[in-house]
Amino acid sequence: MAQLTALISVSDKTGIVDFAKALHALDVKLLSTGGTAKLLADAGLPVTEVADHTGFPEMLDGRVKTLHPKIHGGLLARREVPEHVKALQDHGIATIDILAVNLYPFEATVAKPGCTLEDAIENIDIGGPAMVRSAAKNWKDVTVLTDAQQYAQVLEELKAHGKTSDRTRFACSVAAFNRIAQYDAAISNYLSARQDDGALSEYPAQLNSSFIKVQDLRYGENSHQTAALYRDLFPAPGSLVTGKQLQGKELSYNNIADADAAWECVKSFDTPACVIIKHANPCGVAVAATAVEAYSKAFKTDPTSAFGGIIAFNREVDGAAAQLVAKQFVEVLMAPSFSEEARQIFASKANVRLLEIALPPGGARPWDQGRNAQDVKRVGSGLLVQTADNHFLSKADLKVVTTLQPSAQQLEDLMFAWTVAQYVKSNAIVFCGDGMTLGVGAGQMSRIDSARIASIKAENAGLTLKGAAVASDAFFPFRDGLDVLADAGASCVIQPGGSMRDDEVIAAANERGIAMVFTGVRHFRH
Ligand code: 5GP
Repeated sequence: MAQLTALISVSDKTGIVDFAKALHALDVKLLSTGGTAKLLADAGLPVTEVADHTGFPEMLDGRVKTLHPKIHGGLLARREVPEHVKALQDHGIATIDILAVNLYPFEATVAKPGCTLEDAIENIDIGGPAMVRSAAKNWKDVTVLTDAQQYAQVLEELKAHGKTSDRTRFACSVAAFNRIAQYDAAISNYLSARQDDGALSEYPAQLNSSFIKVQDLRYGENSHQTAALYRDLFPAPGSLVTGKQLQGKELSYNNIADADAAWECVKSFDTPACVIIKHANPCGVAVAATAVEAYSKAFKTDPTSAFGGIIAFNREVDGAAAQLVAKQFVEVLMAPSFSEEARQIFASKANVRLLEIALPPGGARPWDQGRNAQDVKRVGSGLLVQTADNHFLSKADLKVVTTLQPSAQQLEDLMFAWTVAQYVKSNAIVFCGDGMTLGVGAGQMSRIDSARIASIKAENAGLTLKGAAVASDAFFPFRDGLDVLADAGASCVIQPGGSMRDDEVIAAANERGIAMVFTGVRHFRH
């Protein structure tokens, strides 16, 4: 039988000397790259450097080592195809039968704290995956090893039969392509996480498809559904999955979905804020000087719905806030930190889940940093992918469309209402005043119904809507929705504009003494 050739090029050199020795004992010719070749030569093995084999030096700091027709021809040529064999002969290319490669340690490099983009880029292996692909494609003739755990099995077969079995070569090929897919996913995930949000909205949305299972959940949205939580390979800083549960029962599927809504909303505020979520909608949101004040205002919006809610703070939960929150039935409480006193207060309430999550670095603004870059929704046998709805509105973007100008205070309230509306399921109508929600109408099929519901809820909670600021997540198709807001006592409105009947709606606002601003952006959330 003709002598076999093995090419060995590994970053992780574990077990490689023993493997090469065993190959040598089986009369396999050894080819190798710089560092690996040196190690094998030092162990007394006869090894040919790839550079000597190709007649081409390793160059560009190792970026080009094995990218040569003498290597890829040797790996890719089909031994049973005469034209392939002839091409090898014509060009003086020898076949390579065994390839042992493991790649530059990209994953380990980016896992190190302080890894720079340059470090990461230098650790993207190019020639290694290229060789692995060549060998894996040509699995009928080439055995490709990408994991030290495969060495023993291959040696055993070589010893017994002088070659590996088809079954083993195919299994090795599958493992090789899996490894490459994993490696490329790690690179694309890492680089995606480094991409700024501007770029994300400029270029077409792409599915970032590598996730890691965090845990199985007891059940899904309902008890007859099974479920699990996965996270991105490189989670955005300050995102829900980076949190730590300090106490309480295991988080359920619905807990996690609601907690995410609460956290994404509360992160939007610079000042101390509190968000109470029920069934994925905010039922109370407020900003104030302290956490406890923010909570007590948020709670007032809808005390009935707040029962069993998910509560998020963007500031430490101190003793005062904990004491007040502990009076209500709460499923999940989340904050960047909990004081000692707060921990003690909840220690006796073993069922309350406390979740500690660091805010994204740089604070709430630029708040898109900590947002999930991609929004994915499953549809029958498909996926919808879009960039996250993280448009940040500044006051300068607002266009006053009525004769009445909003006052500085009204502008504050409108901006607050707009931020909340972004987290309310469409059709969303949010009445606000004095840094708190007064009535939230969510998830209705008609905007006018959302407006009615919001005002009914405010009335039920004993809150007045006189002088309230109102946000609508999308434009009013007719003046009737605006009339409902005016009837309820609204003094100013923020909405995207862009309806065919904007003129009719603006005229209605002027007629009813309402100041109205257009954002030019809408926030559907379904
Ligand atoms: P060594 O330590 O032997 O010098 O290098 C081994 C590493 O180089 C392996 O991880 C292998 O995947 C990688 N490698 C082999 N050929 C090339 C190439 O042409 N370009 C790059 N960037 N890496 C290569």
